[in-house]
Amino acid sequence: MDGAPLTHARAWVHDAIALLEQEATRSADTHLLRLDFPGFPGIPFYLKDEASHPTGSLKHRLARSLFLYALCNARLSRGQTVVDASSGSTAISEAWFARLLGLPFIAVMPACTAPQKIAAVQALGGVCDLVEDPLAVHARAAEHAANGACHLDQFGLAERATDWRGNNNIAESILGQLRREPQPVPAWIVCGVGTGGTSATIGRYLRYRRLETRLCVAEPAGSAYVHGWPTRNRDAVASQPTLIEGIGRPRVEPGVLFEVVDAVIDVEDAASIAAALLLEDLLGARYGGSSGTHFVACLQLAVAMRERGETGSIVMLLCDCGSRYQQTLFDPGWRAAHGIDVAPWQQALGAALAAGRLTPPHAPA
Ligand SMILES: *Cc1c(COP(=O)(O)O)cnc(C)c1O
Repeated sequence: MDGAPLTHARAWVHDAIALLEQEATRSADTHLLRLDFPGFPGIPFYLKDEASHPTGSLKHRLARSLFLYALCNARLSRGQTVVDASSGSTAISEAWFARLLGLPFIAVMPACTAPQKIAAVQALGGVCDLVEDPLAVHARAAEHAANGACHLDQFGLAERATDWRGNNNIAESILGQLRREPQPVPAWIVCGVGTGGTSATIGRYLRYRRLETRLCVAEPAGSAYVHGWPTRNRDAVASQPTLIEGIGRPRVEPGVLFEVVDAVIDVEDAASIAAALLLEDLLGARYGGSSGTHFVACLQLAVAMRERGETGSIVMLLCDCGSRYQQTLFDPGWRAAHGIDVAPWQQALGAALAAGRLTPPHAPA
């Protein structure tokens, strides 16, 4: 032990943490929007607009936490390359924070990632390493880490990098914004599962605050989570791919906490995309496919509440902005090429808002 002043290396870590804290202080909280529908009296919907972060998605929170976690664990130093595996949104946010800290960044992404997301990472100075097999992204990121890069490891660390008891995590933010509403403790909060970080944070926070709110995970039909949750099977894999980015992982990621989730609703891609189009009509802005998935699940929960004569608020996340999907989900030609017909679902979902009942298009009459 000696009383020598901080090393240059340690001083850089302190400066980097100060830059992250300045960024957090400059940022405002994201809006909690409210929608009321004639078919669901006494069941207001609240939508947490995570697209309004500077990098356009809820991954802004995660990227800030992952950089802080790497710095405070002494895993990240001046000039070190940073790497992560990402379906896109995380990579955009991480590239943005890497630029803030003056660090090179590599995003390992599936080659099928929306082209606008790839362009966004590159515009922020990041390098995209595209791999054909979406399951191979983890191994490729580990290779970069073996060569000296700092692996931010969203899939391994999202669940622990966020302060689940508070520090303005997403759950604390939502409940604070509801405090003057007629039903400030929601009946349900709905989210999806990518890293599992958001659902873990919300589920833990609800228990910590001793609230009666239940947590519903909305996922693309056939995802690993949908198969794994009922029996808590961590070895489950997806039975079909999904067009919805950010959720519907092909495997159960290490950060997933099945236990804190009260219900799982699976949603087919055509319904999710139709719901994203409906959200554009309702809100005047485009949000991504996972927001559509969440909206379909909210409608199903609201229908069930209405049938039981219950009232109560329902909260869902608007996870990212829709401009990223202009050439994919929002392009009729792209949808047709992928065999997606949204019209029947648009009709069914639109009717549900008025009637309080949801009849899936292909259900027997
Ligand atoms: C990451 C992501 C999610 C899921 O959030 P996690 O906290 O990673 O489980 C949902 N939607 C989009 C668009 C995402 O990028």
